Amino acid sequence: MAASLVFRLHDRGPDLVREVLLERGWEEYDEEEREEEDWNLYWRGSTFRNSEYLNLLPWQRLNHHPKTVGITRKDFLARNLRRMRATLGSSLYDFSPTAFILPNDYTRFLSEYNKLRLTRGASVYWICKPVDLSRGRGIFIFEDIKDLVYDCSMIVQRYISDPLLISGYKFDLRIYVCVKTFHPLTVYIHQEGLVRFSTEKYNLTSLRNLFAHLTNTSINKFGPFYKTQKERVGQGCKWTMSKFRHFLHSQDINQNLLWQRISNIVTLTLLTIAPSVPSCPNCVELFGFDILVDVKFKPWLLEVNYSPALTLDCQTDITVKKRLIGDLIDLMNYTLVDSLRTKAFQRQAYKKSCFHANFSSDALIPLLPKLKEAEFQKQGKGGRPSQTLPKLKPTRHFEKMNQRPSKLANNQQRFPSVDFNKGGIKTHTSTTLNLMLDPHSRSNVSGVNRQTCPALAPWMRVNRSLLQSEVTNCDETETEAETELPAQTDVSCSIHDLPKKRLGFRWKLPDINRRSNKPEGVPFEGNEALIGHHAPPLRVGDFIRTFPFNAATLKASQHELEVKVIIQELHKLTGQLAKSEKKKRKRKEEEGKDRDGEEDFDSLLWGPKDPPLISQCLKHN
Ligand code: ADP
Repeated sequence: MAASLVFRLHDRGPDLVREVLLERGWEEYDEEEREEEDWNLYWRGSTFRNSEYLNLLPWQRLNHHPKTVGITRKDFLARNLRRMRATLGSSLYDFSPTAFILPNDYTRFLSEYNKLRLTRGASVYWICKPVDLSRGRGIFIFEDIKDLVYDCSMIVQRYISDPLLISGYKFDLRIYVCVKTFHPLTVYIHQEGLVRFSTEKYNLTSLRNLFAHLTNTSINKFGPFYKTQKERVGQGCKWTMSKFRHFLHSQDINQNLLWQRISNIVTLTLLTIAPSVPSCPNCVELFGFDILVDVKFKPWLLEVNYSPALTLDCQTDITVKKRLIGDLIDLMNYTLVDSLRTKAFQRQAYKKSCFHANFSSDALIPLLPKLKEAEFQKQGKGGRPSQTLPKLKPTRHFEKMNQRPSKLANNQQRFPSVDFNKGGIKTHTSTTLNLMLDPHSRSNVSGVNRQTCPALAPWMRVNRSLLQSEVTNCDETETEAETELPAQTDVSCSIHDLPKKRLGFRWKLPDINRRSNKPEGVPFEGNEALIGHHAPPLRVGDFIRTFPFNAATLKASQHELEVKVIIQELHKLTGQLAKSEKKKRKRKEEEGKDRDGEEDFDSLLWGPKDPPLISQCLKHN
């Protein structure tokens, strides 16, 4: 009989993921009982090690894509957005408050501070946040530069001092975003989400009162008014997004444009890193985007959380997060049982080459003994990796493997499912290949520990200081980021000239993005405009596909990411929506008159109830 699916949780958490998966009949991984590779989904709050990506087996998935720190750490995000602003124009990337990274940008900050003070008077406020902390820790707001005191790397940001308030309380929106793949970029936003309130009324005369200025639950739950019934907001400090939408609806506020702008922010933010994220089809990621809406209904991106909190503090959390995780699992398209894993383990096939059949190049074979030799040299001589090596515990699999040195094929099995062909890092492909196959190559002299880490890909060889607090916007736990020690940064290699076909060791992974295998009960809706383009489902549970949103963006994200085309389409869509919203306001009674013949968009928009298709919104306006 086929075995259940198996999940593995790092540090025994989060409980919610365990609960949802157990309810669905999954089993929890137990290292005493199972082989090291005998699991389907590995979930952790902190980053995975490079070797964990490289050693992924066909049936295994991870809950993080590699190399997303470019948006999840406050200073990296600020830098990336600044770069995009410089390249693509400040009007497009105007959704994040001006930011400076201290101490480096201090002079620039000073000149901006003085400029604004002169032109706008004294009422400009700033918020200062440690770059590598989360949950409101170490944050303060100031107006006068003499109050700017810091002793670590900080980001100082324009404080949005005119937030939209509900009964005098400030709030922000926690938007859950799932990036199913970066190649092609496929993004879903969960229709449900959280609205997080401060617990004291907003007041610019008391900048030190964090209960009035910060909306973090981790802060407000310790506030004196947390449990009090607050006017309209109620008890506690959270609403579901549905409640918020109903509220807007009850105020006769048209939300379409707001949600479209939020969706644009998500897409534009992801575009800043998408070209540099290596393709890893076995990864999926849930980000928490924090959005503040100002009085003019302009949404602002505050930050992107790497591991959004899945703790259940109140009934609102239970309502939102349980469904969220359920939908995320549905989005991963698991079948009820994993015959691939089961068969591999029943026949011990996982110890054989997983991708031997795909391994078309004979030319690679002569290189493999070198790899084996290198491994056994290290083993036999009790060779110790140099200090720059990643400190990794040999897996059980490798212990076994090394007892049977003649089984060369075992080495092949460990090759990565990470696809270095994607992400605009083409030159790295051959480098990586070199690292994996030729232990004597120049770029390999740093001595990657091949017992457990067949290759340290060049893109992972970033400066250690950059990696140290990679998981800073992880509001789940305080787990430290686990990082590999860096290898040398010299990625020059001698194998650039290998013919392309020799690079054919992307073995066939189970396609977690397949459409044919639609999970039960998951509706696949309105793909009219994308027919023939292999469009991912529009909606899975409450996850709504926001990218690609039409045929042009689907095409522009299929191969090399065509950022300019995508941006044009975003402009077009937002422009059309804005125009139609304006018309709608002016001539409500003339609904449906002049939209016929407009381009069809299949993405969905949020509304108070079920989200309509954008195309429907346009037609009806
Ligand atoms: P953390 O990672 O510590 O939660 P955030 O950037 O999310 O840091 O900031 C915490 C809170 O501070 C936000 O939830 C929001 O209420 C407030 N905040 C942050 N930046 C700004 C800003 N630029 N303008 C107004 N409020 C902000």
